[in-house]
Amino acid sequence: MVEARLHEISAPDRRPAANPGVLKLIGYWMEDLRESFCLPQELAGELPGDVREHVVRYLRAGAYGRGFGGFSWCRFSCGADQGVMGTKELTDGEWIWPEGLAHYVEVHGIILPAEFIERVLRLGSPLSAPDLQPDSASLESMISLDYWLAWCAQHRSGPWQERIRKARMDCDKTAASALRQSINSKIGRFGLANYECSVLGCGQKARFAMKFCGEHCLTDYDYEVITRGCYPVSAAVAPEFGVNPGVLSQNDL
Ligand SMILES: [Zn+2]
Ligand SMILES: [Zn+2]
Repeated sequence: MVEARLHEISAPDRRPAANPGVLKLIGYWMEDLRESFCLPQELAGELPGDVREHVVRYLRAGAYGRGFGGFSWCRFSCGADQGVMGTKELTDGEWIWPEGLAHYVEVHGIILPAEFIERVLRLGSPLSAPDLQPDSASLESMISLDYWLAWCAQHRSGPWQERIRKARMDCDKTAASALRQSINSKIGRFGLANYECSVLGCGQKARFAMKFCGEHCLTDYDYEVITRGCYPVSAAVAPEFGVNPGVLSQNDL
């Protein structure tokens, strides 16, 4: 269908990008098993060769949007050069993507939203986006992952979802033990009160001078901080994720 469209469109539309105030960010991958992003492995698909070439060229030709301190790395661990995966995000005034996204399309054949591909085929090359200030607060405020998250939700793969679900259950144990450790260490430091936690039916002793037990004293923020890092996308999910070249230390090389 996309190919048909490519031949159908002869006069590229060069009107300036409509600016609805939103830059759709695409090409982000799950790093924590609780996130709703896809793994790129789930998006393996068929794009006609000529369409793929167009998309790759277009992705590489985007204008600089914003930069990051570290290099991205290929989730297929194919040994792609850091320079290819890059440190920045590129934009065409309506969409914004990591510069390494071109590599996934070119080498690993992943698919991207049809709406984006249609735009690529219609425009041929990215529009310049003179109104966008790179690395600015105004650019940040325009960037939204809503489109990508909704699209990912429609393109999940059953077998990969199952692997992710199983891996997450294992990680729940790690997270529970990290939480228990943190609760115990606080109780060790502050002690227990001689009355019960105020949460109905809890039955545990409250922490000293607090209304709640160690568990119910935990805020969402505490939970987030303590379990951060407990849910890595690892070799258990995708063998390719066994080694993350992005975090190899000098000693590992
Ligand atoms: Zn790769
Ligand atoms: Zn309690």
